[in-house]
Amino acid sequence: MAITKTDFIEFSRCPRFVALENIKKEKLDADVTIEEYREKEYRNALEELLSSMYETDENNGTPKNQIDVKNKQLEAMMDYYKKVEEEAGKSVQKIFSGKTIYAKETKNQESFDFSYRGLKFLCYVDIYNEQEKEINIIEVKATTSKKYIELKGGYPKAEKFSIFQKKGHIYKLKDEIKNYPLESEMPRNVYENQREKLFCREKIGSYIYDLAVQRFIIEGEYRSSKNEEKLNNIHYFLAVLNHEYIFDGTYEQNEPCYHQDQNGNNLIVFLDMDEITKEMQKKIYEDADKIYENLKNSNASACPLGSYCAMKKQTECKYFRPICGSMIPKKNSSLTYFHNGRGFKDEDGIYHKGLQLINEGYFDLLDIPESWIQNENHRIQRNCYQKKEIYINKEKIKKGLDSLEYPIYHLDFETFPCPVPRFKGESPFTQSPFEFSLHIEREPGICDFKKDNIIFLAKTMQDEREELIKTLLNYIDVDKGTLFAQNVAFEKGRIKELAQCFPKYKKRLMKLYDRGFDLLWIINNNQKLYESLGFQKEAKTVNYYHKDLSGSYSIKKTLPIFSNLSYENLEVKNGTEAIIEYASYNKMSKEERKLKQEALKIYCRQDTWAMFEILSALRQLSIDCLKMV
Ligand code: SF4
Repeated sequence: MAITKTDFIEFSRCPRFVALENIKKEKLDADVTIEEYREKEYRNALEELLSSMYETDENNGTPKNQIDVKNKQLEAMMDYYKKVEEEAGKSVQKIFSGKTIYAKETKNQESFDFSYRGLKFLCYVDIYNEQEKEINIIEVKATTSKKYIELKGGYPKAEKFSIFQKKGHIYKLKDEIKNYPLESEMPRNVYENQREKLFCREKIGSYIYDLAVQRFIIEGEYRSSKNEEKLNNIHYFLAVLNHEYIFDGTYEQNEPCYHQDQNGNNLIVFLDMDEITKEMQKKIYEDADKIYENLKNSNASACPLGSYCAMKKQTECKYFRPICGSMIPKKNSSLTYFHNGRGFKDEDGIYHKGLQLINEGYFDLLDIPESWIQNENHRIQRNCYQKKEIYINKEKIKKGLDSLEYPIYHLDFETFPCPVPRFKGESPFTQSPFEFSLHIEREPGICDFKKDNIIFLAKTMQDEREELIKTLLNYIDVDKGTLFAQNVAFEKGRIKELAQCFPKYKKRLMKLYDRGFDLLWIINNNQKLYESLGFQKEAKTVNYYHKDLSGSYSIKKTLPIFSNLSYENLEVKNGTEAIIEYASYNKMSKEERKLKQEALKIYCRQDTWAMFEILSALRQLSIDCLKMV
């Protein structure tokens, strides 16, 4: 077993990881077959893909589920990941000249290895492009270009510019473009600060770090085989999905054809990472040294928790929950205080935040000294937990409820954010709706679970969006009432995208869009709304809090407080499972598909009924608890 790229990333997390894995240095001498290698890399790539599917976007709203999927479920996404690899390979063949080897021809895939401090490091290259004098190494990532291009800067109160500039199909960092008038767009230090973010392996720099590990191995092989003259002629790129690409709906033999779109965009774009991965080499060597030390010392004693644990991210260390972070209470820990990114200021003016609190022994919510609590919402959380009380601001809840216009359309979309666009007008990772549930509450508390419910579910994986729109508009009067959802920005985002793809329905869909109201505005807060309703200081505090919320207003937390409904016994339990079932339609028998579709309907119907039940309970509370503020 040699150290692969994925191992490198895992083994260099912290001194404890390797010891917990029980890896012995001697075992690392053997080789890895390409099949074993690809199995590991695919698992990693699919986890990255899932992270991209759930990346949030302010305009699109917050995704509904934390990612919690099993191996079996990841398989359903494999075809889509392979499609991205294939499209990237085709793009390289078209854009770069010369000979290209990519994943389609697995057996021929180019591999590199070398030994450093007695350890063997090995990598296969996603796309290897060889030209007369140059070699291009291309790492494919099923993510979009957006987060990179949106690294922006500018002068105060002036236009903001990206730190990248597109030249043909390749994005280059502006300081690497000869004579680029960088300082006419932003001060140099602003540019440098943004550029520096590319080096953060726990955030935006994770894929670049990955490529830099490859560079370390490739250059290591060339150096040890005395081919150093080649080093100056190797270039390193990330291939990602172009977030600006809009699919024109052309198919050949039922497969989408990703021609250049009408704005001249290609599906795949390349980020030139030559200079950044070169600068990263110092850090990679340090990490390789750490791996060596970690293997040599094999020290399993506790080490401080840190960003390398990747808590709550898709890449969270597998030892975090069972071992290293097991002392963190599951409910009401010191990490459950609302919006506490800055942390708590102590008596000496020093801030304590995040996992640092755990490292310092502040585990429970009440472990935080009372004198550190300055925020009113934090005080509410603390009191509710300490005194086992429920906090209710009846006045705010009542006024919030009064501002709702009837009928209330409780709406929930299930969507498939496919990495490669499938239907006309879609872009990579467009949250394409395939199902909705609608419960219509005609008057306060008047809604029947079955009679007032409409479900639309796509029967196939073909484009059924127009049918979905027609069904939706058939049951909603867009001139009155309220579009109601938990995280309504998500539902509004989908409605807006449908309006753009189907101009025929745009006017009506946008009327519905304008009627959006969020369940969270009633149960949690919306400062602007409550200020407009006449509240001042209270406009900043939550409307309701119960210790069982443990710092979260997700449906998973609110539902057991307000209702007896549960997702536990459902076959489809959450949005991720819904996506997987839909994405697996074509792999199911007719009978199986029928059963799964029924399960999808039951799940989605429960989502909107849950909103109705929570809203009804809040209405009742605002009447009952006159004395509780
Ligand atoms: S959970 Fe954190 S401290 Fe523990 S092994 Fe993983 S990375 Fe290291």
